[in-house]
Amino acid sequence: MKAIRVDQFGEPDVLRLVELPAPQPTVGQVLVRVHAIGVNPVETYTRSGNYARKPALPYTPGSDAAGIVEAVGGEVTAFKLGDRVYTAGSLTGSYAEFTLCDVSQVHPLPDNVSFAQGAAIGVPYATAYRALIQRGQARSGESVLIHGASGGVGIAGVQLARAHGLKVLGTASTEAGRQLVMQQGAHQVFDHGAADFPGKILRATGNRGVDMILEMLANQNLAKDLTLLAPGGRVVVIGSRGRVEIDPRETMVRESDIRGMVLFNTPPAELKQIHTALIEGLKNGSLRPVIAREFALAEAAQAHIAVMQSGAGGKIVLVP
Ligand code: NAP
Repeated sequence: MKAIRVDQFGEPDVLRLVELPAPQPTVGQVLVRVHAIGVNPVETYTRSGNYARKPALPYTPGSDAAGIVEAVGGEVTAFKLGDRVYTAGSLTGSYAEFTLCDVSQVHPLPDNVSFAQGAAIGVPYATAYRALIQRGQARSGESVLIHGASGGVGIAGVQLARAHGLKVLGTASTEAGRQLVMQQGAHQVFDHGAADFPGKILRATGNRGVDMILEMLANQNLAKDLTLLAPGGRVVVIGSRGRVEIDPRETMVRESDIRGMVLFNTPPAELKQIHTALIEGLKNGSLRPVIAREFALAEAAQAHIAVMQSGAGGKIVLVP
């Protein structure tokens, strides 16, 4: 099979297309023939070698894919050959024509969801759900600012928050991104590149602030976020690419919380709840992953460059 292989950490050009033997499933495993692969920012951090979690070299990147069950190992009863599935995790990496998964990493893909959309679920939608519902404890009637609403996690957050009856404010840096965020269900959208955007957000809430913030770039925004929260508000830190200085007094006067999250910390029982909710949302149409761009598997390096550029408009996927 064709697969991307990383022999040494480094720039995007270390992502090389090679020929490898297709893996075979053993007990409790599922082999998926991949039709689309989700590209997530974390795969660029891992590839660079600067991330806390480092795989043993050489490795094939990726956890998110969608495709068809090609083979199942012993004791697998939940899936059969030919089933449409998406993956949220992989034993051998998803940047390949076949990916081997533990059965717990495989989920049914509803018929109304394309393979490209299926590749956009594993990390982005699960992260948005964990941030909004499990860590953020969102309640209907509350307001949420999705800071970075135009990317994979942000669009998922907008759709989930609307489905849960929240008032949704979003940010994006481009006009096209802001239009997309509104189309996905935000009530109001702001430009996170504009100098006066925190004042605009505060005025939009009648100076009360928002109940929750889902934060995609905390190193840039956390200090301001703390001034945008309503009393009892909480910021869920989803993404951060550096350090930041904050004024803790802003949390004291509002009795507000800063809550971090990393998807791979999710306990198995809560992960199961997440995918149960996501599959139902996909089926009923409240969750509709948006694809920004498709690249061929051989163009994985370009996809890694694109996913780190500003001007997001949904999910970047690879097609083997
Ligand atoms: P993505 O598809 O590349 O989207 C990135 C988003 O961040 C875009 O909406 C972008 O908006 C926005 N952004 C850029 N500069 C910003 C700023 N100054 N303020 C606010 N937003 C800004 O990435 P993603 O998959 O959605 O992931 C988003 C972040 O969450 C990444 O940092 C990723 O590493 C992290 N993440 C964390 C977890 C976890 O478990 N904690 C899981 C998944 C992702 P524009 O392009 O419009 O500027």
